[in-house]
Amino acid sequence: MRQRGGAERAKTVRMFFWKRGVLAAAMAALILSGCSEYESSEELRAQAGTEAQADGEVQAAAEVRTSKQTETGADISGRSQSRTRAAVPEFETVSDRVYVNTEGGSVRIRSACDTADASNILANVPDGTSLSRTGKNADWTRIQWEGKTGYISTAYISETAKQKKTQISAGSSSQGGAIAENGRQVLLDPNWDYAEFAKITSGTAVLYQSQTAERKNLTICVNAGHGTKGGASVKTQCHPDGSPKVTGGTTGAGAVTAAAVSGGMTFDDGTPESSVTLSMALILKDKLLAKGYDVLMIRETEDVQLDNIARTLIANNASDCHIALHWDSTSSNKGAFYMSVPNNVAYRNMEPVKSNWQKHNALGESLVAGLKEKGVKIFSGGSMEMDLTQTSYSTVPSVDIELGDKASDHSQAALKQLADGLAAGIDQYFAG
Ligand SMILES: [Zn+2]
Repeated sequence: MRQRGGAERAKTVRMFFWKRGVLAAAMAALILSGCSEYESSEELRAQAGTEAQADGEVQAAAEVRTSKQTETGADISGRSQSRTRAAVPEFETVSDRVYVNTEGGSVRIRSACDTADASNILANVPDGTSLSRTGKNADWTRIQWEGKTGYISTAYISETAKQKKTQISAGSSSQGGAIAENGRQVLLDPNWDYAEFAKITSGTAVLYQSQTAERKNLTICVNAGHGTKGGASVKTQCHPDGSPKVTGGTTGAGAVTAAAVSGGMTFDDGTPESSVTLSMALILKDKLLAKGYDVLMIRETEDVQLDNIARTLIANNASDCHIALHWDSTSSNKGAFYMSVPNNVAYRNMEPVKSNWQKHNALGESLVAGLKEKGVKIFSGGSMEMDLTQTSYSTVPSVDIELGDKASDHSQAALKQLADGLAAGIDQYFAG
């Protein structure tokens, strides 16, 4: 919708808006400006009077909630009916990643370049959030947000990732080394390969950098299985090429779609699997950071809004290997094993499985060897063939490890032993 002379008009509009309260001038600019995607005359008028409100873009979440609550459906529909087509600012086209840069506050992503309209707020994102930028000008940055175009105030954007407040623990911490809480948020980028197959994508993973002297420059993605509210009622495609599953599992063979994230099992003592995988992930994270690995944590709380495909794509693009933590749904205390890539010609010929399946199995073998070395009970040969969504979209070495089942001990001591085993297996994989 770009027209000749658009840049000049946009410049004119911006110039006017830098002066407060020039209502008549703003209206004149509107009449001149013609084409638009979003803005209404009302909104532009409001903006002309509140240009300094960009400062108001960084707000407490509570304020945002309040303004949303007071916005009634009637208001919104009334407003959209009165919309007049007006200019969207000119953007220099770019394609890169930028980061939210505030003093710890959050900032709004909007569907239009207008700070006066609460109904255009798409999200309120924290300091450090990684964003996919498609356009920029002095006032606004255009981004891709959950498959849509969004705008964020340029004043709160940085081109370099900044580390959040670093709290280095004492050298004699329980992990035996200095570990910084330096997490940086990692979001799903809609431009990544296979991003169109992910359905639950609004959550963020967090990347931690090891602060030890012997940093390995290897990033391990630790994926605490399950823990996505609503994930069981959303379906995603099992394979990127749409072919049916070749083995059973949570979803039967022959299925083309499966739960985006299933709920997980419940241990015989009533503990949900998702709680145990979370505890396991947190213990493993500290252990790996202390060993010099960087760690990409998919989930650090009870819920993350990332489905299995989104988790996998984040691992593909921000880590060197992907380890999903699970316990199996049997009650025989059978021991640990990994889900190996099915020995099925069609499946092993489908990309990205074709180019990566040997790495997946090699990582699984290493993890099982590490667990065994630390005295963990291993099931049968240590593997079971399984056609998993995770494997079907993985482009880095990727394993679903089942650390036991419903009858397994999941005390802190047991989880520490498992973490020792997994860390030994990771060392072995990267040493080999
Ligand atoms: Zn599981």
